[in-house]
Amino acid sequence: MESPTPKYTVLIVDDNDNNRSLLERQLRRLGYTNLLMAQDGEEALQAIASHGPDLVLLDIQMPRMDGYEVLAAMKERGWAVPTIAVSALDDIASIVRCIELGAEDYLTKPFEKVLLKARIHSCLEKKRLRDREVHYLRELEAANRRLSEMANLDGLTGIPNRRLFDTVLAQSLGPTLARPLSLIVFDIDYFKQFNDCYGHLQGDDCLRRVATAAVQSTRLHQDTVARYGGEEFAVVLPDTDREAAMAIAERTREAIVGLAIPHAGSQVAACVTVSLGVTTHWPTVPLTPAPWCPKPTKPSIKQSTPAAIARSPIRRYDG
Ligand SMILES: [Mg+2]
Repeated sequence: MESPTPKYTVLIVDDNDNNRSLLERQLRRLGYTNLLMAQDGEEALQAIASHGPDLVLLDIQMPRMDGYEVLAAMKERGWAVPTIAVSALDDIASIVRCIELGAEDYLTKPFEKVLLKARIHSCLEKKRLRDREVHYLRELEAANRRLSEMANLDGLTGIPNRRLFDTVLAQSLGPTLARPLSLIVFDIDYFKQFNDCYGHLQGDDCLRRVATAAVQSTRLHQDTVARYGGEEFAVVLPDTDREAAMAIAERTREAIVGLAIPHAGSQVAACVTVSLGVTTHWPTVPLTPAPWCPKPTKPSIKQSTPAAIARSPIRRYDG
């Protein structure tokens, strides 16, 4: 049997001072130093709630709130603290009742020291194994979450990828849709020329900065900005009518122009600009995602006047 680990905290619950002292002495002899005392059921529940002991030694016969009531209250609150019922009652019905109420074990008074030691060790060993299992399960869940997030995020920009965009859009367009849903699709103007001029590393940096500016232009926890593919981005805007979507599109466009990323290869401006398309779906109109995605409107070369700098039109679509 493993030697007791002093890190364990044991709560001793007994209304009788002598019994508490006796158990305390026994436990100290066994090497347990983190001991808590409670002299009735109420105190026991408070101690469990505030200290989270690893083990409870619970007297059954106590005035006001007895051990059965403590076990029932623990069960009701979902507290899975290993508990050994300690009682002078040695009839089968009492033992069965304790076990049914969630006690891990039962010890009759006066208890044998060797039996006390063995049962405490056994309970704590089971708890240690359970804790380890829970720990590994949590680690596994966290790893799965990270994997799942990675599968849904674009590796370059860190924002949702096409796969997550498709999921979010399909969910947003579900049968429970009751409010207007808008979508913005935009791409970076003359991005091929940007890469040709500055190289792909600069191109990657440009994509990252554009993605960040777009995310910052939208509403946290409501909108989803995704990299649709290449230099194309899409934004799902739940509960958003056309005017609000147009305002967000304009804000996004201005934020990206505001980055002032030089773009010598652009035929519309001296800096990086984007072309955007906006559409809004009202719940009364049955629609599927595929034909609904707007295409960003490309600025024509005629618009490349100083006054029109970076002022790519935002096209509205009647969806
Ligand atoms: Mg008692």
